Amino acid sequence: MSDQLIYVNGQFVEKKKAVISIYDHGFLYGDGVFEGIRVYEGNVYKLKEHINRLYESAHSIMLNIPHSKEELQQIIVETVCKNELNSAYIRVVVSRGTGDLGLDPRNCPEPTVIVIAEALSIYSDNLYKKGLKLASVVNRRSSPDVLNPQIKSLNYLNNILVKLASVQADADEALILNNQGYVTEGSADNIFIVKNGKIKTPPVYLGALEGITRNALIDIAKEQGFSVEETPFTLHDVYIADEVFLTGTAAEVIPVVTVDNRQIGDGHPGEITRRLLHEFRKQTLIDGVPCYMKTN
Ligand code: PMP
Repeated sequence: MSDQLIYVNGQFVEKKKAVISIYDHGFLYGDGVFEGIRVYEGNVYKLKEHINRLYESAHSIMLNIPHSKEELQQIIVETVCKNELNSAYIRVVVSRGTGDLGLDPRNCPEPTVIVIAEALSIYSDNLYKKGLKLASVVNRRSSPDVLNPQIKSLNYLNNILVKLASVQADADEALILNNQGYVTEGSADNIFIVKNGKIKTPPVYLGALEGITRNALIDIAKEQGFSVEETPFTLHDVYIADEVFLTGTAAEVIPVVTVDNRQIGDGHPGEITRRLLHEFRKQTLIDGVPCYMKTN
């Protein structure tokens, strides 16, 4: 394939020419919003849901995306098509745009819009077979009254510090608590536990992003006849769970086999987790926007 093409402010440009100003407030201040989306066999999974979340995040920070939702969907689909990708990861970034060195967003007249689609480099198959090691970290999730985790903003420093802490703990991923000590989520994924056949995930108001995979999984699990509760739980509940798994656009549904060096269940990916991953992957091929079809 020829050079990767990236959408930058109205044009498709080669990767090495895809540049933005050093005065962009996305770069200077993390002022902007983003989405990570996946393409499964030419099918953009849950595109509408990702678009809606992007526009909600933007609305919340008073950032006007200079496209209608339909236009942006088309740009995303076109980026995948132009790069002839069948399975891909898409990153959509809308920043406040170029301004001066001050914070004031009013000095950024035009938002920057970027769409990157690239071949997938995801977790190895082995991790799905073996399961992840999770570590709870001392850093707390930013609370909804400070920087609301529902805003998928370019300010990911909270998540990065958490990721760093989990690397220090020699774990694959972090488990973040809120200021009250309740479990919230991972650095870039939502958490579920299974106890006695019942599935639980924290309510998002505790301090978790309302993951699109999380919501899909809740629906799939219910369709499969499981009881799913959105309810607060603690680290202790995680330690004594029969199964633990994480969900996210990148992670899909990934089993966890140890948490803070406590073995979960029998130390192998659980049966319910494996079944839900199977059902989830089946759904990704059906529930999406095909790349060959321009949406309207
Ligand atoms: N929590 C955080 C902090 C994330 O960054 C992500 C990834 N977007 C998720 C959860 C999972 O969300 P989704 O299923 O929409 O990818």
